Order: sequence, then C-alpha cells, then structure tokens
Amino acid sequence: MNSQKSEYNPYDNFLEVVDTAAGKLGLDKNEYITITYPERELQVAVPVHMDDGSIRVFKGYRVQHSSGRGPSKGGIRFHPNVNIDEVKALAAWMTFKCAVVNIPYGGAKGGVEVDPSELSRGEMERLTRRYTAAILPLIGPERDIPAPDVNTNAEVMGWIMDTYSMFKGYSVPGVVTGKPIDIGGSLGRNEATGRGVSIVAMEAFKYLGIDSPSLRIAVQGMGNVGGTTARLLSEAGYKIVGVSDVSGGYYKADGLDIRDLEAYIANSSSHSLEGYSAEGVEKIDNDGLLCCDCDVLIPCALENQITADNADRIQAKLIVEGANGPTSVEADEILTKRNIAVIPDILANAGGVVVSYFEWVQNTQNLTWDEDNVNSTLRKIMVDSFGEVQNIHDTDGVTFRVAAYILGLKRLSMATRIRGIFP
Ligand code: GLU
Repeated sequence: MNSQKSEYNPYDNFLEVVDTAAGKLGLDKNEYITITYPERELQVAVPVHMDDGSIRVFKGYRVQHSSGRGPSKGGIRFHPNVNIDEVKALAAWMTFKCAVVNIPYGGAKGGVEVDPSELSRGEMERLTRRYTAAILPLIGPERDIPAPDVNTNAEVMGWIMDTYSMFKGYSVPGVVTGKPIDIGGSLGRNEATGRGVSIVAMEAFKYLGIDSPSLRIAVQGMGNVGGTTARLLSEAGYKIVGVSDVSGGYYKADGLDIRDLEAYIANSSSHSLEGYSAEGVEKIDNDGLLCCDCDVLIPCALENQITADNADRIQAKLIVEGANGPTSVEADEILTKRNIAVIPDILANAGGVVVSYFEWVQNTQNLTWDEDNVNSTLRKIMVDSFGEVQNIHDTDGVTFRVAAYILGLKRLSMATRIRGIFP
C-alpha cells in the first residue's frame, strides 16, 4: 500500500474523471481546458515559536482552483501528509462540488503539513495565525473563503477571522466559514457535512430500492463527518454495524451504540476509540472495516482508501463518499464492474460547503437564520442535487460519479463561455 501511495496522485485522478465526463458530454478540449489547471498555487513557510523555546518551520499551501462561478471556497487541512498535489486535487473537487449543488462559488483548498496531535493549543494558535498572515493576500470574503477540513474546527476558524480582521483594522466575519456561533458562525454548520451525507445516503437507499430499517451500514472515520453521519443514520433507524478511527475498527452485527461511542471519544484523552470495548463488539482493523459484512459503506476519512487492493473484497452494494477522494480510479472501475453504486464525494459531502454558503450570506447581510431554516434549505439543495445527478445517471447510462462531473462540467464550461478568456 505504501509503495502504491507514493505513485498515487489525486490531481491525476481528478483529471481522468474530468476527461471521461467531458468525453460523454462531447465537449471540445477548448471548452474545459481552463478548469484542468488551478488558477493559483501558493506555498508558504510558517515559522512557529514552540513551547520549548525552539522554532519550527512548517510548510503551508493555498490553492485557488477556480473563480469562474464566484469567489473560490474551500477548507484548510492540518495533516502530516498534506502536499501540493493533494491540495490541488482537494481545491479542484471543491470547484466541482460547488457547481454540482449550484452555489455561486469556485473552489480552493489550503493545508499545513503538520501533525496537530503533537502541538499544544498555544502552538496551534500561533501556527494558524502565522499561516493566515502568509496567505492573507489571497483570501477575503469576495475572493477566497476558507473553512474547516481535516483536523481544523470552529476555534481555528475564529483565529483566522481574528487575524484577518486585525490586519484590516475592522471585523470581517465573512472571510471564513465554520466559525464559532458567537462571532458570526451559522447554526447547523458544525453538523452540515454529516447531515448532507445522511440525506444523500437516504435518497440513494430509496433510489436503489434497498431502504429498510435492517440496512447495515459501516462508517470509516469518527471525526466531524463520520461521527455525525453515523449518529444521524442511527437516529433515522438504520443499523450502524461498523465504525473505525485511527485506533482501528469496531464491528457488531446487530448494531453499535453510536451515542456510547461518541461519549467514549469525548471522554478519552486521545480523542479516539482506543481501548473501546462493549458487549458483542468485535475489534477489527481498517481493512476489515472497509471489507466488512454490510450493505452500505460510508468512507469519511481520507483519500485513496478504496483501491485496487481492496475493491474486489468490498461487500457493500452501495458506497457513499463522505470523505473527499476516498476511491481511486482503478477501484472505481472494479466497483462499476461489480455493480456497486458509488455516490461521489462532490455530491455526497457537499452539505458542509452548502451551509458555509448560508453562513457567508448571513455575514454579508448582517442577519441570522434559525436552525430549522438552515436544515430545511440544506435538505432541499441536497435532495434536488441528488435528483439532477440521478437523472443524468439514468438518461446517459453513466456512473453517479461521471453523472455528477457531467453536471458540474456543464455549469463550469457555461461560465467560461459566458465570461470568455481575458484579455
Ligand atoms: N472542507 C469541507 C469540504 O471539503 C467544507 C468546505 C467549505 O465549507 O468551504 O467540503
């Protein structure tokens, strides 16, 4: 797996899918060539005073993939494996995600190559503030709006908002989304990605005719997206038979107690399921989780998890991508041959950026929405978007992924056509 990882380039993965969708759509290369290149790529050095008196310098990135349909938009990730190809791919997926759900944004992503579990809270704050200062010329409510991603949260967004505002000399809440509610965050934003995943998953159950309370679901990842998805689906009456996090996987054929798992994580010093045990729960590993006996698999961790190494052994008949880029192109081909439906990331996990959009709209209009309004508007957008993708899937006879890319490409190439190429 490691040797394969070094060859894996998520941006190449992205380009392959775009070419396939453009081919189905009969687009001339001239009609979509611009969106195969990120508009801007910035790499920055982020020096930080560590608590022990030393200075460490971290590598940071911000990539603006597209601003064709509006300001570029996308999260910031803190992870030891962050690199430029990953950030480019994540930015490009944001462009397509925003186009698929038809919100007026382009796509961007940022990241810092760091293991946040090694940092104190003070070190995290200094890292965040210095990184923000370094990317400051690129961001702004009309230009590029960051948000949370892997290992970043509302607190980190608050530091970004404050740092940007200090440079400007006045408060600019709309520079970032996913902020704490008290400084302009939106109700419902914290749960939005998982809520969107669960809405899209339930639409897929109905479409495939598999909707039943006995449906057995496995969720990879118990962070913000995986944890919320597992909880909402178990509250909706489905059985969550497997979950996993950095500590490994946990399986129970007649359903895990998600509230118990969440409480365990909240009280554990490692913020993980390390050491979790309960009656009837079997400890498995990450591969065991992905290939476990279940009907639906929902990967909510990192890229490149479902690969040519395990796609043959996956038992689920439906995969809903809560993570960005969890399935490699080779795995996708195997899954298609095996008749396993995959609801792609750029549709399934778009709920986060949809509610980010609501947050930004509230910030720019200086008003607040109640949580019911946020959740019902999110539901409408997710259900409608699923329907649009499903129509293309049905009429063109393509996978849900290619259908979503076709929908995104139509909107993106239309924007390019209307705007033209400057100068
Ligand atoms: N990081 C999230 C994503 O990958 C949310 C991005 C946003 O809200 O801008 O979709």
